[in-house]
Amino acid sequence: MNAPVAHAACTPLSSSEDVYGPYREALIAEKLLIPLGVRGLYARGGDFEKVVEHFDRVATEAGNVFQPEVMRFPPVFARKHYTRLSHIRNFPDLMGSVDSFMGADKEHRALLAKLDGEQRWEDDLVPSEVMLVPAGCYPLYPTAENTTMAPGGRRVDTEGFIFRHEPSDDPARMQLFRQREFVRLGTPQEALDHRDYWLAKGLQIFGLLGLPVEKVVANDPFFGRGGKVQKAMQIEQVLKWEIVVPICSTEKPTAISSCNYHLDTFGASFGIKTADGEVAHTACVGFGLERIALALFKHHGLRYRAWPQQVRDVLELG
Ligand code: ZN
Repeated sequence: MNAPVAHAACTPLSSSEDVYGPYREALIAEKLLIPLGVRGLYARGGDFEKVVEHFDRVATEAGNVFQPEVMRFPPVFARKHYTRLSHIRNFPDLMGSVDSFMGADKEHRALLAKLDGEQRWEDDLVPSEVMLVPAGCYPLYPTAENTTMAPGGRRVDTEGFIFRHEPSDDPARMQLFRQREFVRLGTPQEALDHRDYWLAKGLQIFGLLGLPVEKVVANDPFFGRGGKVQKAMQIEQVLKWEIVVPICSTEKPTAISSCNYHLDTFGASFGIKTADGEVAHTACVGFGLERIALALFKHHGLRYRAWPQQVRDVLELG
């Protein structure tokens, strides 16, 4: 096993400085990210994507020991499933709904007249049957609805694009990004063991990649006044850990991985049972693939061919 490599520390930045601009501009200049006209929306250049793909392979290898089922989700899922999750109650400001035009000729002409007259045409759209996926494992649970699992429960390896409506100048806060997740459905102990295993595994992998990571007890950004209580509960019960690393700011390091124990929330919502007939508990570990690439480019330089040999070896970048 290799030792963690040394890393270059980020420069501390005061709040009056543009924390995100210099790194974002450098990424764009190197064609690692290509801006798409909206804050937080980018195409990925070839070298950026290569790093993402190679990290993804490291994650695959780490998960292979458990031989998980593999599922790859599209970036949208059924609205009727979305509304059975608590997302609309807890994170209404982050959701993404897909609208379309469902009128006839006459309505179409009216819509085009509005468009050409620079009037608001979006009001002529109606919601479709799909919502954008807000978290990597959400589309999984409806597929297990009203099932009783075999002894030992299930392990699922998922990946997909995640949407969060939070336009930002921070290159690490994209509106659409990929999450690689390993999800466990089983007994409370199986779920907890899974979370703790991956927390340790994640720290080990990032250490080998020369990233100065730390684990922190975290909370989700629950919405509004009621959300304060949920944040406090989540922290008090230590349901969520994050692995953080400085990307643009040392004061506010960025989460590149999260390890979550959901109790029986999803098992109860979708009637998922263990072999003993108990409501399944679930846990997931998520790797934010774009953020991990951004952390690597920040700490080792914008050209991966010049990264420390050990980092290139771990990622098999040659
Ligand atoms: Zn998840």
